[in-house]
Amino acid sequence: MGRASLFAAFVLCCTGSALAQTSLPPFTASDRVIIVAPHPDDEVLGAGGAIQQALAAGADVRVIYLTNGDHNQVAFKLYKLALHLSPRDYLAFGERRRKEAIAATSSLGVPPDHLTFLGYPDWGTLTMWRDYWEKGEVFRSDATRVTAVPYKDAFGYQQPYKPQSVEEDFVRLFREFKPTKVFVTHPADTNRDHRAAANFVRLAALDVEADGLRPQIFYYVIHFGHWTQPFHYHPELELQPPRALLDNGDWMTLSLTPTQTEKKYNAILLNRTQTTYGQYFLVSLARANEVFATMPMQTVPRVPDDVAVDWRKAVRNKAIAYPTAEPADTLNERAASHASHEQSIAIDHTDFLRQGTDLIAQVELKNRLGKRTNVHLFLFGYKRGTSFDTLPKVVVAITPFGNAHVYVDGRHVGASGVTVQSVANRLFIRVPLRLLGGDDIDNVFTCTHAHLGEIAADDTAWQLFSFKGDTSL
Ligand SMILES: [Zn+2]
Repeated sequence: MGRASLFAAFVLCCTGSALAQTSLPPFTASDRVIIVAPHPDDEVLGAGGAIQQALAAGADVRVIYLTNGDHNQVAFKLYKLALHLSPRDYLAFGERRRKEAIAATSSLGVPPDHLTFLGYPDWGTLTMWRDYWEKGEVFRSDATRVTAVPYKDAFGYQQPYKPQSVEEDFVRLFREFKPTKVFVTHPADTNRDHRAAANFVRLAALDVEADGLRPQIFYYVIHFGHWTQPFHYHPELELQPPRALLDNGDWMTLSLTPTQTEKKYNAILLNRTQTTYGQYFLVSLARANEVFATMPMQTVPRVPDDVAVDWRKAVRNKAIAYPTAEPADTLNERAASHASHEQSIAIDHTDFLRQGTDLIAQVELKNRLGKRTNVHLFLFGYKRGTSFDTLPKVVVAITPFGNAHVYVDGRHVGASGVTVQSVANRLFIRVPLRLLGGDDIDNVFTCTHAHLGEIAADDTAWQLFSFKGDTSL
């Protein structure tokens, strides 16, 4: 190689390296692939090319829809040219979106009996995950007004709107189908159901480990700030992962042939209720490739007792760009996600270490704990062989004055050994692991939330960490 070409290779490698990804491992005939779509259309938008390539390789492909997308108010109102919709209208839309999904996936070669509709509440699944593990409480959709899966054809017909129901459905489906690969939305996607889907899939994957099932999980992004600009259909362009998520997973690319991209584009257009107003964005996902991330499980490092804690060793959960107001519908969501990065974000990141039998967290804020800033640290422990449902769901709520209130399963409890120290713009939170279910818990699902007054200002994605493995420093 001559000097000039060596230089060219160097430039190529360095300018492209941040964005260059390895290729997605090719599908084989022995692959059993599940695509999890939080809403009908996500499977085609995120993995329409992967579906085609898996089928071409002879793999078995199934799609699981978490919701029927029955809360997409703006799309429905525009589609129907109506200002007010009744619960019955929303249900009818859920049914319509199911039919659109059948048409779209059929066009890619997936037979309708390979689709499973769970029928959980659109725009409600993250709230269910976060707040509804307690016994008795059932989530109610404010669009359809129902508290159980209302669709007769749904897999979980009449399953109550409880996170336990979702977990149970995924575990059953994973056990029956025995997937080798599962594709699901990225936990930092700005859509709430997209984040929830990632949590339920990771939970079900932990649950089926005992059955010897270890599907590889690939994450795809649909909504994230201004991503995928430029909008509209550009089949010649390569899709890159959102920059802010580059270190949030190991990214891989899957090149599509022009025919596959066009087929994906046409399949997107079959989701007619969605393309009525969002087509410019939706078709921008039909590109020359698709991108996916894997997220190897990180272990919370263990630091020796009685030494100064070195936070550089910690595992980190970064804050993600998040709308300043809790969006009430998809139009707001889209507008808000476009606002994104410029907003002053309350949280920068949360770091985790383990010392003795305590989990210690450091929440770094952008500014000092303000007069109106409340910080919530969610910690849901996971222990092999113990039903997740029965393990305590812990929330440490820190007031603007740095006082901590501990909630276990929604009940305010005493300090329970939890301590919080506020130093400048950092909060140090020490939580005994026994509070999460025992010193021997295996994993923790965690998220940090900040509220400015009544407004949900900022949060991190939900992360899943391990306590096992090589943890000592
Ligand atoms: Zn979606």
